[in-house]
Amino acid sequence: MSLNRHAASNPSPGRDRPGREGFRNLRRALSYLGHYRRTAIIAYFALFVSTGAQLMVPWLVRRIIDTITEGMTANMILGLPPQVQAGAAARQGTTLDQLRLDASGAEDAIIAVCIAIVIFAVSRGVFSFIQNYMAEKLSQSVAFDFRNELFAKIQRLSFSYHDNHQTGQLMIRATDDVEKVRMFVGQGLLFSLQAVVLLVGTLIILVLTNFKLTLVALPVLPLALVIFMVFGALSQSLFTKLQVRLARLNTILQENLAGIRVIKAFVREPQEQARFDEAVDSHLAQNLRISLLFSFIFPLVFLIANLGQAAVLYAAGIQIVDGTLTLGEWQQFSLYLVYVFFPLGQLGFIISLMSQAAASSTRIFEILDAQNAVESKPGAVELGGVTGHVRFEDVSFRYFKSGDYVLRDVTLEARPGETIALLGSTGSGKTTIINLLPRFYDVTEGRVLIDGHDVRDVTLPSLRSNIGIVLQETTLFSGTIRDNIAFGRPDASLDDVIAAAQAAAAHDFITAFPQGYDTPVGERGATLSGGQKQRVAIARALLLNPSILILDDSTSSVDLATEYQIQKALDRLMEGRTSFVIAQRISTVLNADQILVLEGGRIVARGTHEELMESSPIYVEIYNSQLEADAALDDETAPIAGEEVRS
Ligand code: ADP
Repeated sequence: MSLNRHAASNPSPGRDRPGREGFRNLRRALSYLGHYRRTAIIAYFALFVSTGAQLMVPWLVRRIIDTITEGMTANMILGLPPQVQAGAAARQGTTLDQLRLDASGAEDAIIAVCIAIVIFAVSRGVFSFIQNYMAEKLSQSVAFDFRNELFAKIQRLSFSYHDNHQTGQLMIRATDDVEKVRMFVGQGLLFSLQAVVLLVGTLIILVLTNFKLTLVALPVLPLALVIFMVFGALSQSLFTKLQVRLARLNTILQENLAGIRVIKAFVREPQEQARFDEAVDSHLAQNLRISLLFSFIFPLVFLIANLGQAAVLYAAGIQIVDGTLTLGEWQQFSLYLVYVFFPLGQLGFIISLMSQAAASSTRIFEILDAQNAVESKPGAVELGGVTGHVRFEDVSFRYFKSGDYVLRDVTLEARPGETIALLGSTGSGKTTIINLLPRFYDVTEGRVLIDGHDVRDVTLPSLRSNIGIVLQETTLFSGTIRDNIAFGRPDASLDDVIAAAQAAAAHDFITAFPQGYDTPVGERGATLSGGQKQRVAIARALLLNPSILILDDSTSSVDLATEYQIQKALDRLMEGRTSFVIAQRISTVLNADQILVLEGGRIVARGTHEELMESSPIYVEIYNSQLEADAALDDETAPIAGEEVRS
């Protein structure tokens, strides 16, 4: 029996919807940066300094080249016969004194500029280190916040939400989507600011140094920008599809890991392998498509950049020959030109990062904003000192607004300490009834009362800590046996844990392990047998000491002696508590204070065994078909279990 049925598939709504909503959500994601204002300020300050230092370098290179050429010219003229020197100097537009100064000071000037270049290079290095580290810290912190919020929310979300969302999909959101947003917050935002600063700064310098040459280079820029935008848009849809395929891969992987036993038992390995292969293939194909685009785009852009360079070279060459451009200015200009193409390339990349992050933040906020169907209402009171008086008043229920009623007009009353056995065929609504007690779902009509309190009027934690649940399929968590028994009361002392384990007939097998109570159990308790897990679960419920119990009294496929021990443990657990039992066993039914027979969501018969044998043909039929075989089994166990079963 499972308390929660995952409705097969409902691919996450809202996927593939970048658009305006995506960007609104992206802005909202960016508002998380506000929690780390200091780090952000340092990162952005470092960005401005390092970009500024970067912008200085071509200017310094120009200074060096100009000093070199001036020195060379000076030496050349000073090497001429003295009578022509003055004339040559005048033709260069300078004086002999100036030339002597140029020649003697050239080395010092070059050294000074070299030192300046080193200083700027070092400060660029230092500040880009600070910028990168702070950006990484910022993005990791934001991702940390998102992961925590998502986890907390997923834990709070009610069963009906989980019914409609695949685990694999939720996992992708908590991992991959957070990563996409993190990438943008960390790199995209900073890079785009850097690109803009570099682009604008460079363009201003270019216009100021040589307006004509800038005009020659300019037409290439919009062309490159258009290519990058097209590339951004193309890659965004490819990336979105990639994420869908990744989610599918993840779902298959998760199902296979969780269901490995079933897969092996049904010898489904080849089919599952094929299913996985198919998903991996489609993921690979999509990745290759993206690589193709990337491999194509960069040569194209370099080609355009080279065309621009050729045009600039031509125009600059003419100007140099004309004497209107110095070699230094030309070198400076070409270096700045590279600075223009670099941010353009970055912007293309950022556009794709941004679209991905927008889609991902939409998916993240979809979870964070999801309405929780079941919540403690404002002003809910603590449910304390419960005696275990439970009433269902005209309860009707359906899982979905538009769905069929699964329960109709269910009215029942359990007095403190009573055992209520629920009987009925599969799908008759037994699990649904017990789902309403701890508010795994809320009633559609009617009321569920505990000690006179509507369960919707009390706080959820206080409600649930009064209800113990033991199901046939037991979930244990990675940790020790002791941790698992103390799951509902982590502060319980070892003595309390041992007492609970003894009552649950678990103490002997636990102490038989070399590490005793500190024995680690694997993920989902894989190292314990079914019967052992069940007894650990019983001990867990006993330790919580709830006044109300929900039980599934069927035992896993265990040998008769173990079954008897489990039964004994269950009986001890039920002592003095109001118990709702999905009854599979004759002894439970015989001992129950009330038996409720369900059919199609209605209670069709109620009473004790004797009463129902008299009055209810349906009960007699169930008794004969489902319980008699069990009764025969119980007779077999009688020599060991006799006095307990018949008590
Ligand atoms: P039982 O425990 O008696 O086998 P259930 O209470 O599990 O019966 O199921 C009653 C009906 O409700 C069935 O028709 C079942 O398909 C439906 N049902 C159970 N759980 C869900 C769920 N989470 N979402 C939608 N329908 C459900």
